[in-house]
Amino acid sequence: AKVWRIKTVSQGVPKESDFECITETVPPCQDGEVIIEAEWLSVDPYMRYRIARGKPGDTVYGSQVAKVIESKNPDCPVGTYVVSYPGWRSHSKITAEGMKDPFQFTKLSDLGGIRRSAALGILGMPGNTAYFGFLELCSPKAGETVVVNAAAGAVGSAVCQIAKIKGCRVIAFAGSPAKVDYVKSLGIEHVFNYKTDDVSQVLTKVAPNGVDCYFDNVGGDFTESVMPHLAEFARVSVCGAISTYNQLPSLGSKSSGPFPSGIIISKQIRIEGFMVYRWSSRWMEGINQIAQWIKEGKIKYEESVSNGFENMPKTFIGLFQGENLGKAVVKY
Ligand code: NDP
Repeated sequence: AKVWRIKTVSQGVPKESDFECITETVPPCQDGEVIIEAEWLSVDPYMRYRIARGKPGDTVYGSQVAKVIESKNPDCPVGTYVVSYPGWRSHSKITAEGMKDPFQFTKLSDLGGIRRSAALGILGMPGNTAYFGFLELCSPKAGETVVVNAAAGAVGSAVCQIAKIKGCRVIAFAGSPAKVDYVKSLGIEHVFNYKTDDVSQVLTKVAPNGVDCYFDNVGGDFTESVMPHLAEFARVSVCGAISTYNQLPSLGSKSSGPFPSGIIISKQIRIEGFMVYRWSSRWMEGINQIAQWIKEGKIKYEESVSNGFENMPKTFIGLFQGENLGKAVVKY
């Protein structure tokens, strides 16, 4: 097996030299076990946290769509496709115990003609992050104004479209002219490049009555700019803070500043963070609804594909440089 490990835990945007690829022998398959081979591997922003908390020699954590190539488990014969979390590995042995945890190992159901890589994106963890994180925490109502950042990414692009399905007015931000065009192509009217447009000025103009729902993927300065524009009784879903992930306190630097309490109190705003696994017991509800919306043409999705396992670090680092449009995946 080829395995990517942490070589150095460094401050700032990760570098390719922070990772090393080694070769390992996969132990023989015992009763109840399977050996899987990666087909699609995911790179996600959360991996930065894992790396920051990890140590040299650890396998980089992550999910993949994989094919069972050897099996001593009748429930999971050779040829079965699965979603698993063995990390950045080409081949892995999954024990009988490991196969019991539904969030470490699931058999891939038929995606109705949709490419299997979607199980790492729109029909997987990021899709459900958009579905539950937006609908449950923002409780959007038709006619309300919704702000979404990292809007051309895996989660953000889905939130924009779900907000539209719910009849909201969406104001989206992304980091390049091509991404702005892409989000507009999804039917979102108000899309801005936060690198060239001032977020606060945009909101003064486009959301004169305030922002009812703010789905935050970015945190930091971006969120500071949005807070004063929140309407009374606004809801903020704190999904991610990618602008701060490379300055983690655990890496010896300060994280983003404290919340603006005055604004939160006076406007009676609800701010709530979440981990998507809060909705584990309703997991398939989200996936099935999104699949239905894709079928109806109400949700479109994009993937940025890198070819080759050797490109795992490069593709991961690209997330922090805005290189991906839609879900970033690596084809083994
Ligand atoms: P994306 O596909 O959106 O990729 C990351 C994007 O973030 C980049 O393409 C870039 O887009 C943007 N970005 C990178 N650095 C910065 C920066 N410094 N300031 C502003 N934007 C930046 O990733 P995902 O859709 O997978 O994840 C989106 C967010 O959701 C992340 O914060 C992630 O951690 C979070 N998340 C949270 C979950 C939860 O359970 N709470 C589960 C899954 C994801 P651009 O070019 O537009 O800048």
